[in-house]
Amino acid sequence: MFFQVFLRNFVTVKCVTMNKALIIDYLNHPNPIDLFEKAKQIKSETVGNKVYLRGLIEYSNRCAKDCYYCGIRASNKKVLRYQMNDQAVLEAVEYAYHKGFGSVVLQSGERQSQEFTQNIEALLKKIMTLTNNEIGITLSLGEQSEDTYRRWHDAGAKRYLLRIETSNKALYEKLHPKNHNYGARLKSLQTLKKLNFQVGTGVMIGLPYQTLEHLAEDLHFFQDMDVDMVGMGPYIEHADTPLYETVGARHASPLQIENRFDLTLKMIALLRILMPTINIAATTALQTLDPFGREKAIEIGSNVIMPNLTPLKYRENYFLYDGKTVVRDTFDDTVTDLEARLARVGAEIGYNLQGDSLHFKMKSA
Ligand code: SAH
Repeated sequence: MFFQVFLRNFVTVKCVTMNKALIIDYLNHPNPIDLFEKAKQIKSETVGNKVYLRGLIEYSNRCAKDCYYCGIRASNKKVLRYQMNDQAVLEAVEYAYHKGFGSVVLQSGERQSQEFTQNIEALLKKIMTLTNNEIGITLSLGEQSEDTYRRWHDAGAKRYLLRIETSNKALYEKLHPKNHNYGARLKSLQTLKKLNFQVGTGVMIGLPYQTLEHLAEDLHFFQDMDVDMVGMGPYIEHADTPLYETVGARHASPLQIENRFDLTLKMIALLRILMPTINIAATTALQTLDPFGREKAIEIGSNVIMPNLTPLKYRENYFLYDGKTVVRDTFDDTVTDLEARLARVGAEIGYNLQGDSLHFKMKSA
């Protein structure tokens, strides 16, 4: 009922708007069926029922940053640090390529050293050669200089994921040490856009001190930034982090763990309505809270899944949060299983498709 006014002819309307109060109403609603139905309908009329696979390669857990919520933060001395060698990365890429995954994501802790940035540049060139320039490459390697971003773009990476984590500056500052800079992260996103990357960002949902108002602002932030992709997931405590130690599981936020899953689904549905043509990931953190979490997200708005292709021996050291799913099946089992799970929600895998963001393509056309 709420939707009738602003959703008329939504496909031709570039900018769908929804005010903060209405978004908060939906986020507060225990089961907003009309929201989910609308999001489903819009999804099927825009991006359709294809789900694109991005093979996730967790390249390294070495990190110069010290985010208070993250398990691989620099100060966590319990973590065994690793960096995959080029051969291991190329094997994972080859697997993805031959299985018809349209793209891979290279993710890692954040480092700006010349050694690191040059390594990545060389690795990107090898990946392009190995796959006849056919595989899409997304990077998720944090804040870097404009020059580094440009070199990585030239070397073959055309997409970049950099979560703003929360669009509220004051909240960002509560969750990060003083030398981490909200403005710098924002600037990185702007630089990536300027360089013509397909740009993805995102936030965590259910953070200590976070309110529904912040989440509504996050959705407006995605719209204002006109991003091409979004990945949002529930915040999940990690026992060896300051945020857990100081605030623990009993934090004052109204967004307790049992609500975070539902809230994330509502955020995804709202975002699909607000930005009908972007790519939205069904994140691993959702699957951690519910074995069918990713499929539920696909049903109401997401269209991207990132199966983990990191070799098991490394994967166990890439614990961003407690209970992160470490699937022990072979990749083949995982994909067959995924096909069956997606079929149940009327979706199918878009094999051999890079699955560019429709939003990005429409802007560039
Ligand atoms: N360092 C890279 C990416 C690595 S971390 C970068 O900054 O872009 C990838 C994402 O994991 C982060 O952006 C954050 O949103 C998420 N993450 C970290 N700790 C988390 C936690 N405790 N719960 C849920 N998600 C978390």
